[in-house]
Amino acid sequence: MSTNYGYLYNIEGWGDPYFAVNSSGNISVKTNGVETTSEQEIDLLAAVKAATAKNLQFPLILRFPDVLKHRLDSLYTAFINAIQYTGYNSHYQGVFPVKVNQNKDVVDNLVNFGKGHVVKFGEDHYYNFGLEAGSKPELLLAMHSLINGSPEAYLVCNGYKDMDYISLALVARTIKLNTIIVLELEDEVDTVVAASKKLNIRPVLGIRARLLTTNPGHFGSTSGKHGKFGLLEAQIYAVAKKLEQLGMLDCLKLLHFHIGSQIPTTSILSSAVREASGYYCNLVKMGAPMGTLDIGGGLGIDYDGTRSGSSDMSVAYGFEEYASAVVQAAKLVCNQNGVQHPVLCSESGRALASHHSILIYDALSVVEDPSDSVSSDELISRLDELVGNPTKLHANLKSAVRSRDSNNNTSRAHADQLKKHGVEIFKLSRRLAKQLEAAGETTYSYHANLSVFSLTPDFWGIKQLFPILPIHRLNEQPTQKGTLIDLTCDSDGKIDQFIGEALTLPLHALEQSGGGYYIGTFLAGAYQEPLGCKHNLFGGPTLVRVDSTAGSSGGFTVELLATGPSAADQLKAMHHDPDEIMNDIAKQGAEADDWTENIVKKVLGDMPYLFGAA
Ligand SMILES: *Cc1c(COP(=O)(O)O)cnc(C)c1O
Repeated sequence: MSTNYGYLYNIEGWGDPYFAVNSSGNISVKTNGVETTSEQEIDLLAAVKAATAKNLQFPLILRFPDVLKHRLDSLYTAFINAIQYTGYNSHYQGVFPVKVNQNKDVVDNLVNFGKGHVVKFGEDHYYNFGLEAGSKPELLLAMHSLINGSPEAYLVCNGYKDMDYISLALVARTIKLNTIIVLELEDEVDTVVAASKKLNIRPVLGIRARLLTTNPGHFGSTSGKHGKFGLLEAQIYAVAKKLEQLGMLDCLKLLHFHIGSQIPTTSILSSAVREASGYYCNLVKMGAPMGTLDIGGGLGIDYDGTRSGSSDMSVAYGFEEYASAVVQAAKLVCNQNGVQHPVLCSESGRALASHHSILIYDALSVVEDPSDSVSSDELISRLDELVGNPTKLHANLKSAVRSRDSNNNTSRAHADQLKKHGVEIFKLSRRLAKQLEAAGETTYSYHANLSVFSLTPDFWGIKQLFPILPIHRLNEQPTQKGTLIDLTCDSDGKIDQFIGEALTLPLHALEQSGGGYYIGTFLAGAYQEPLGCKHNLFGGPTLVRVDSTAGSSGGFTVELLATGPSAADQLKAMHHDPDEIMNDIAKQGAEADDWTENIVKKVLGDMPYLFGAA
C-alpha cells in the first residue's frame, strides 16, 4: 500500500463521506456517501480525462447529480429521525433557494428528486420538496421547473416585491403551483391586496420575521434588530391586524426567518427557532390559520473540516444535530403555548449544493518566487513602529465617537486612519508569517487556467476559503509549496490563502513529459456560478455532468451540459458587436489574407481561457 498524502489537505475532515484518495493516488468520488461500495467509487481523474477526450475545455465544473440526491436524502432522513425521536407531531418539507445555484440542471434535478419518498418507521415519507425565489426571473424559472414537481411542494416567494412580482406569484396559483408570498415590508400588504382584488385570486401569505437573535459570522451581518430584512415583532402583529381588518387573516399561513448563511452553532440556531416559534404561536392565538414555520437557510458547511464553528469556514454540527435542534426548539415553545406543531420548512441552499460540483483546472506553468528583498529586520522594525503608535489614533477615534458627532469629518478621518493602520499591520504580519512558514525554503507560483473572479468570486470578495488540492499524484510526496496565480491581469487574481490557515499549498513539480497537472476546488457548488463576474472578460467554465452507471464497477457517463461563454458572448455583454469586430478587423488585413479572418473568428468563438499544453 503506497502512502496517501490526502492528510496534507485534510480530506477526511471536509471530504467525508464523498471524497477520498484511492489506491492510484487519485481522488475518488463516493456518490452515495457512506453507502458507496468500493466498486462504485468514481475516479475523478478518469472523469476529467473522459471530458477532455471529448475536447471539452478547462476550466471544467464536474457536476455529480447523485451527490446532490444523496444530500437531499440525508437532509430528509435527518429531519424524519429527529421528528420521530422527539415526538414531534408534524413533518419536514423543504425548499431550495434557487439563488444558490440557478443552473437549470441543478434546479430540475432537485425538483425531480423532491418527488421522491423514503420508507422509515414503517411509514412512507414523501419529500414534496419545493423551491424558493427572491426575484422575478427566479420566480419564473422556479414556476417552470415546478410544473413537473410535486404538486404539494411549496414555492416560497421572498425578496422585495412590486405589483408584477406579486401578480406572477398569484397567477402561479391558478396553474396549481403552491406559491406563498412572504411579506418583507408592511407596505407589501397593500400591493398584495390590490393585485389580489384585480386578479380575483386569493393569496397564501407568509411573514418574514426580523429576529433579535443574531448570527455572529460574516454571513449574519444583515441579521438582528438592525437587520436588512423582515418585520420586528410588533410589526408582525400589526400586519396580522391589518390582514384581519381586510378580511384576509385566513390567508396567513407561514412565518419565515433567515438569519444568514453558515450559522456556526446549534445553540444560535435553537435560540432563533425558539424566538420565531414564540411569534408563530402568538399569530395562531390571534386567529391566523398558520401551519408552517420556515426557518430559512443557514445550514452550514464545514469548509476546513475542523468542525469548530469558530470561523465562517466551519460549522460545529452536521445534518442530524441541526435537525434535532430545530425540532426540539419548535416543540418546546409550541407545547408551552398549547399550539399545534407546525410543518417545518428550511431553505437550505449551501448545504445541499456545495458538495455536488467540483471545479477543475490545469496548472500551465510554475515559476520560483523571488526571495523577499526586504529583510526580516526591516519588516520587524516597521511592525514595531506600527504597533507602537496606534494609541493616539485610538484615542482620537474614541473621543470622536464619544462626542457622537456624525457630521464631524475629522471623526470619520480618524476612523479611516485607524482602519488603514490596521490593514497595514495585517499585511505586514502576513508577510512575516509567510517568511516564517517558508524560512529557508523556496516557494512557487503555479499559473492556473482560471479566473478567481469568474469561478470562485467568494474567495476574492469575502475571503471565503475552499478546499483546494491536486486531484491526482496523491500517493507521491508533494515537494513544493505553492500559491496559485490566475489568468487575469489583476493583483487580486491569485489564491494565497488556504484552509488550515496556510499561506501555501503542498504541490508537485510539473512533469517534464508535459502531462497535465490538475487541481480541484471542492465544495464550490453553492453561490460561485451566479456571483462570477467578467473581469478581463473571462467567464464561466465548461459544465459537465457525471452520472454513475448503476451497478457497474466505477462506471460513469460524462455529458456536456454547456460550454462556458465564448469571447464573443463576453464582448456582447459589454455592448461590443462581435460581427462588427470581425468585419472591421478583417477589412484592415491584407487582401487575400485569410489568416486575419480565421484567427479573429476562432478567438471570438472559443472560451477565453487558455488551451493547455495537452
Ligand atoms: C440566501 C438565502 C437562503 C440560503 O441560505 P443558505 O445558507 O445557503 O442555506 C435561504 N433563504 C433566504 C431568504 C436567503 O436569502
